[in-house]
Amino acid sequence: MTRHAISLNEVQTSQGAYPVGEEPYLLTPGPLTTAVSTKAAMLKDWGSWDDDFKAVTAEIRTRLIAMCGGEKDYDCVPMQGSGTFSVEAALASFIPKDGKALILMNGAYGQRSAKILDYIGRDYMVLDKGDYLPPMPEEVDALLNAHKDVTHVVVVHCETSSGILNPLQGIADVVMRHSRKLIVDSMSAFGALPLNVSDIPFEAMVSSANKCIEGVPGFGFIVAKKDALEAAKGNSHSLSLDIHDQWVTMNKTGQWRFTPPTHTVVAFLEALRLHEKEGGVQGRLARYTRNRDVMVAGMRELGFETLLENKWLSPIITTFFSPNDSSFEFGRFYDEIKSRGFIIYPGKLTEADSFRIGCIGLLDHHVMKGVVQAVKESCEVMGVKNFAPPDGVR
Ligand SMILES: *Cc1c(COP(=O)(O)O)cnc(C)c1O
Repeated sequence: MTRHAISLNEVQTSQGAYPVGEEPYLLTPGPLTTAVSTKAAMLKDWGSWDDDFKAVTAEIRTRLIAMCGGEKDYDCVPMQGSGTFSVEAALASFIPKDGKALILMNGAYGQRSAKILDYIGRDYMVLDKGDYLPPMPEEVDALLNAHKDVTHVVVVHCETSSGILNPLQGIADVVMRHSRKLIVDSMSAFGALPLNVSDIPFEAMVSSANKCIEGVPGFGFIVAKKDALEAAKGNSHSLSLDIHDQWVTMNKTGQWRFTPPTHTVVAFLEALRLHEKEGGVQGRLARYTRNRDVMVAGMRELGFETLLENKWLSPIITTFFSPNDSSFEFGRFYDEIKSRGFIIYPGKLTEADSFRIGCIGLLDHHVMKGVVQAVKESCEVMGVKNFAPPDGVR
């Protein structure tokens, strides 16, 4: 099958024009496939001190605060770098030097938060659920009962390494009941999964430009309580990652403290406009959910098995077990699929061989049908006959 059989090249949709050209679709959790108009927005150079650019920054901040209903008590601070820079900035700025975090860990991104706290020298404890089990509210409740010295709970919204959608609402309820503070890594979920401060009154939430809002990489952003931004003064070990300082300067001058990724920022505003045009969070969730449903159904029909039960599958990315067939080799599989127009993602499990297929980016269910077909053909040319995982992988 050639890519053109399923391609939506140059088709205008309510989400913007689909990508043109011969690049493969990125079925990865960021960077991802972006709209033509988002890419086109980068064809202009901007002065970072100029009023026009300041207006872009201001509009982005306003739109992001509105996306989580934080108009009253929250502010938004963009931060240069990839998403991890913003996570590190948030942990360093909001957890005081004498604070203690409880990190809810069930994959690579929870582990990364712990590593950051090792670097910056903050006390923490973990609830480690391994590769793919969700941290449950009851477990958090028990830990907070037993550990009165925990000041902050750090949770990953969608743990992208397995694709699990963690039970954020239940966890937030417990954290609030214990009057502790919640920091949410919603990197791969914000913009596609509802996250509203009236339901989940987080202290701070972190996400980035190149995930569900479908911008290009270059910066992250933090939405935090104004109180928390105020109180963050002096906490950060790092000048460039000091959210309090970035916030104060931005509010005073309208500028980023240090050179912003201007082209990325302007592209992000276009991505936000497309997001609104699609119907905001609900519209995006509907498209990603359909992407996942079509893709997972097609893969299961071929005989592949998902790591997670349906109940925990996110509309962001899905992990599949590699087939228990000696003809299957991930490197070859990847190349075969790529030659058919799709980039997939290796697995990140410690115990079983797996691979991942993302549902986010400017893709629709036609693209997802295309990737299933590409998987089928790739397995055929490799001589893979048994698609099921080895017995007892779970
Ligand atoms: C993508 C992602 C990050 C940040 O990763 P970067 O590579 O630094 O952009 C953090 N947490 C989660 C859950 C993610 O999906």
